[in-house]
Amino acid sequence: MELISDLKYLLFPIRCFGCRELGYSICSKCRRLWNPHRYQSRIFNLSVYSAIAYSPVAKNILLAAKEQSIKSADQLVRQAMRSSLLELFQKYSSCALVPIPSRLASNRRRGRDFINELAISVAKDMGVGVLPLLEHQRVIRDQSKLNIAGRRENLAMALSIKPEFLGNYSGEKVVILDDLVTTGATINEANRALTRGGFKVQAAATACMALRRRE
Ligand SMILES: [Zn+2]
Repeated sequence: MELISDLKYLLFPIRCFGCRELGYSICSKCRRLWNPHRYQSRIFNLSVYSAIAYSPVAKNILLAAKEQSIKSADQLVRQAMRSSLLELFQKYSSCALVPIPSRLASNRRRGRDFINELAISVAKDMGVGVLPLLEHQRVIRDQSKLNIAGRRENLAMALSIKPEFLGNYSGEKVVILDDLVTTGATINEANRALTRGGFKVQAAATACMALRRRE
């Protein structure tokens, strides 16, 4: 058996999905970097709770979960998300999570709705519900290469409340959920659409936060 596993290792060497080093699926160095902290930033009047400072390793871990559906990467993202929410719910009363919808093209490519699945999994642990209230009201571009102004323009009025939820939940308290906050343009747009729809957005939670947002 050992011979077979050695042979398998030679043919398909395992690399760390954080740093690409040969060895384990996640090496101890990268694992240490993914150690949840308490980060809080603000997007206008909204507090954003995050657990991991974004870095090249954090980016790779997020991509391994999102784009490659690697289970252990998924678990790391869920752990970070839970950590952010635990912190958030210390201050705000428990309420439903509203995941930010991924672009349809991304869902098709991944074969799943990553943020929605993440929301369902952590909501179960936290004993709260998930309200998939938002949808894109027009096609938006992949914004990983866009600057702050470009992202704002790309996302302006991009989200709306799904017709089936309009008018049914007026005044309901909610928390916005996303995997990463960079410029804050996406969360800001979600906040705008939800507030306009009559929802009371308490705060937002993300697994990762880009360094420039750190305070
Ligand atoms: Zn590594």
